[in-house]
Amino acid sequence: MPEAPKINNVSEYDCCGSNSSLDGKNKKALQFIEDVTSNADEVQRRVLAEILSRNVHVEYLQRHGLNGCTDQETFKKVVPVVTYEDLKPEIDRIGNGDASPILCSQPISEFLTSSGTSGGERKLMPTIEEELERRSLLYSLLMPVMNQCVPGLDKGKGMYFLFIKSEAKTPGGLVARPVLTSYYKSSHFMDRPYDPYTNYTSPNETILCPDSYQSMYSQLLCGLYQNTQVLRVGAVFASGFIRALKFLENNWLLLCNDIRSGTLDPKITDSSVREAVMKILEPNSRLADFIEAECGKDSCRGIITRLWPNTKYIDVIVTGTMSQYIPTLNYYSNGLPLVCTMYASSECYFGLNLNPLCKPSEVSYTLIPTMCYYEFLPVNRNSGFNESFSKPVSLDDRENQDLVDLVDVKLGQEYELVVTTYAGLYRYRVGDILRVAGFKNKAPQFNFVCRKNVVLSIDSDKTDEVELQNAVKNAANNLLSFDASLSEYTSYADTSTIPGHYVLYWEISVSRATPIPPSVFEDCCLTVEESFNSVYRQGRVSDKSIGPLEIKIVESGTFDKLMDYAVGQGASINQYKAPRCVKYAPIVELLNSKVVANYFSPKCPKWAPGHKQWLAED
Ligand code: AMP
Repeated sequence: MPEAPKINNVSEYDCCGSNSSLDGKNKKALQFIEDVTSNADEVQRRVLAEILSRNVHVEYLQRHGLNGCTDQETFKKVVPVVTYEDLKPEIDRIGNGDASPILCSQPISEFLTSSGTSGGERKLMPTIEEELERRSLLYSLLMPVMNQCVPGLDKGKGMYFLFIKSEAKTPGGLVARPVLTSYYKSSHFMDRPYDPYTNYTSPNETILCPDSYQSMYSQLLCGLYQNTQVLRVGAVFASGFIRALKFLENNWLLLCNDIRSGTLDPKITDSSVREAVMKILEPNSRLADFIEAECGKDSCRGIITRLWPNTKYIDVIVTGTMSQYIPTLNYYSNGLPLVCTMYASSECYFGLNLNPLCKPSEVSYTLIPTMCYYEFLPVNRNSGFNESFSKPVSLDDRENQDLVDLVDVKLGQEYELVVTTYAGLYRYRVGDILRVAGFKNKAPQFNFVCRKNVVLSIDSDKTDEVELQNAVKNAANNLLSFDASLSEYTSYADTSTIPGHYVLYWEISVSRATPIPPSVFEDCCLTVEESFNSVYRQGRVSDKSIGPLEIKIVESGTFDKLMDYAVGQGASINQYKAPRCVKYAPIVELLNSKVVANYFSPKCPKWAPGHKQWLAED
């Protein structure tokens, strides 16, 4: 999301002075990128020294015997590379109210709830107040870069569908919420000074509305009403943007009524939303007729350019698993450029795409050296991919030394990202695999390859193979009383439906002639969903970003056919294992051609905001 309130922390660039012209601000932002990438090595050394010197007395670094050293060599020698599980005891103490400097000398202001999970619950990333400024800094670089490729974006508005999610409190009283919820609620976003690049069609109140229906409805209404002013459209991830278009497909009549009459549907009950929307909305029957005519046509092909005719690009992340949405976006937009602007996480914001109009398959992110201290663990996916990716192993001393610095990565090589942040993560494995695609000055540019372990994802959910296996095992127990068992299974993230949903292909062996009632398979669907992590269940229940899980029963012998196909393509018979997730279209087609019955989850799995352990304590 191209948010550009001001450039903080780079006072020497003075890009935020309210008097400086837009051109001047853009130039300064670009100069900042030029400078930090040219001096990436020095900047990284300085960032590490700054983090370590501030945190000399924190318990974690003292325990590892850093003894006040701030140099890279000692740091790498004494501080281990860790995963979230390693830090869990410290995180739990902070969550339970221990305010002593455990990881960071500055007070932990809140936890950011990552979409990565641990023990079925969202990971909790500690953060500090000052990180908001670092995030704002990265946002503020996006539009100056974009402006080089698409000038004139300051002459209109952006229609971005932005949402907040539920938040909870830890037993110790810290707020726990997603990073974007934290950002949208902060003064950095709420009180941003007027800037042509942060001129959105959605009033803040519609973004901050906790009711997802009202938020979506009001944002779409404002976007439609200001349709000719819109120059760019987007959301954070592709899945969210497509959900908005589906909402339009289902609700255009209501929306048109509101535009025609200049009133707001009574289902929108949030008074601040009503007030904000009514400041914009006036009766416009011509516009309502136009939208009705477009939405009433048989097909939605090109609906974006039809309704928002001045749109120059779609700003959504379509790298990683989100690439599965590219065909749908192309359909809705008649092939408008898809622009991926940035790469970020709850742990830290990392970098931006300096060539935003490139093809989605060529997107690379330049990591900004001031954001944190980066290290890279080389990975070789051809040898032992499954093994090394399946569990978060602690690295031994030799492997610890194998980590390379930002400026030392090699073109074409793949690495796992490891970061040391201002908020108190030291040598933390983020879990993303990146490939070096090139360099901007001395700073590398990375393709996002994949998230470690993840086999299925529709929205921000990330389901790994172990979770899938356990969930399927739990569900297959339902078959036992019918003398049936599951012989093979695989899975597929089906994004042809909106929202997308998980599909499981099951081959079962039955020894009784009596058929198994459909309700048993429906129970199996629900058991799988109940077994998945809280991010998946939240997507089903609260965000409605994932549709009901489907089990497709395939005819006996289907998985043998799958093996024949793989062997025909050159796989070794000895080493062949049925894939637990399929993506390749011919394989999906083969499976679909063998389906004898299909069943959907009859209802949503259980989910409640907050961590299970906190809810139990309430
Ligand atoms: P979260 O932990 O919920 O904040 O999600 C952060 C994760 O989302 C990252 O670690 C990546 O796996 C993924 N992600 C963020 N930005 C991108 C991007 N531009 N392309 C692909 N994946 C991304």
